[in-house]
Amino acid sequence: MVERIFEIIENEKKRQQNTIELIASENFVSLNVLKAQGSILTNKYAEGYPKKRYYGGCMFVDEIENAAIDAATRLFGVKYANVQPHSGSSANMAVYRALLKKGDKILSMSLDEGGHLTHGHDLSFSGQDYNFIHYSVEKETCQINYDEVRRLAMKEKPRLILAGASAYSRKIDFEEFRDIARSCGAYLMVDMAHIAGIVAAGLHQNPCKYADVVTSTTHKTLRGPRGGIILTNNEQIIKKINKTVFPGIQGGPLMHVIAAKAVCFEEAMTPEFIKYQKKVINNAKILCDVLKLEGFKIITNGTDNHLVLVDVKKSVNLTGKEAEEILDNIGITCNKNMIPYDPTTPFITSGIRLGTAAMTTRGFVEKDFAEVAKIISACLTNYDNKKILDDLKLRVQKLCDDHPIYEEVSYE
Ligand SMILES: *Cc1c(COP(=O)(O)O)cnc(C)c1O
Repeated sequence: MVERIFEIIENEKKRQQNTIELIASENFVSLNVLKAQGSILTNKYAEGYPKKRYYGGCMFVDEIENAAIDAATRLFGVKYANVQPHSGSSANMAVYRALLKKGDKILSMSLDEGGHLTHGHDLSFSGQDYNFIHYSVEKETCQINYDEVRRLAMKEKPRLILAGASAYSRKIDFEEFRDIARSCGAYLMVDMAHIAGIVAAGLHQNPCKYADVVTSTTHKTLRGPRGGIILTNNEQIIKKINKTVFPGIQGGPLMHVIAAKAVCFEEAMTPEFIKYQKKVINNAKILCDVLKLEGFKIITNGTDNHLVLVDVKKSVNLTGKEAEEILDNIGITCNKNMIPYDPTTPFITSGIRLGTAAMTTRGFVEKDFAEVAKIISACLTNYDNKKILDDLKLRVQKLCDDHPIYEEVSYE
């Protein structure tokens, strides 16, 4: 029944309203992004690129795609953009296939230490089709050791070096990566999926200045629709990328999503967006500082971006899986996450990953994140005390009620 589907969507909307969303890869899009993504553009087939389509009637979707490309290039100060990838993973697949042959060597960050599935996991096409080798973070600091990356790069001579991560809370020096890639004759690819919004706001070094090619998702800190993009300053590379995205790995582009990407890129060029990203970073520092005061051990002992990786095993002797479930029960959503040199498995883990992008969109300020940190601490240290947990649930509900979202939207 169709009604049942909308009932479920309404339930999900209520869940989003009534929980504290700390998943670092999630965000809440604007009503305009939602409107574009839910538009009649979904009806249109537009295989190909503007002015080079395989279908008629593309005059308006051509305008949409050109607007999205133009906005993306202005936003990131780059010459060329492909806005068609359906996701971050397909963006990465397109780059590998455009620049490499099967079996070519790629040097990327180890997955346990913050890399992504598409950075060479066995179960991903990436690990199956290419020969990945990994750099680790330093055991003491849990930060990237660029000398170690250089040593590996010179020894292994990869065809491509990949920088960027899903669970790394520190700045990444893309200029240093560029120098390393130049020294060993490799392409430099940067996957900025997590930090794209921070980069867009000028609060992190812009990888487009240094990398041969940059991929990103549009739905994480960038706060757009679910999707991917590829950016480059190199004309030869964009030609190869365009051919690889279509017809190489995708069919018709999602024109409604591309319109929503255009809206998101325009939004990201406003002064409000820069203020928003400053708050995201500042809120992460507050969350981190208060957790530290509460006795928690934080990987890298701090954060430069929107995320905080907590070692829950060392802090409260829980696994990441247990901590995730316990927090879920009081209305705080986050994810278990491997930490550097984690002795457990990805299904258990020793850490949780917390991000501030989503709740900052909801209007959480410093004092709210301080309260969140205290709630997390009380919850994870009293997880078998029903009375305390009930009280914490009320504190979560109060924070949610004070920061409503999507009140204008109804699916009933
Ligand atoms: C999220 C993420 C991706 C993949 O994005 P999907 O849209 O889920 O396919 C790729 N790379 C990194 C670093 C990510 O964090």
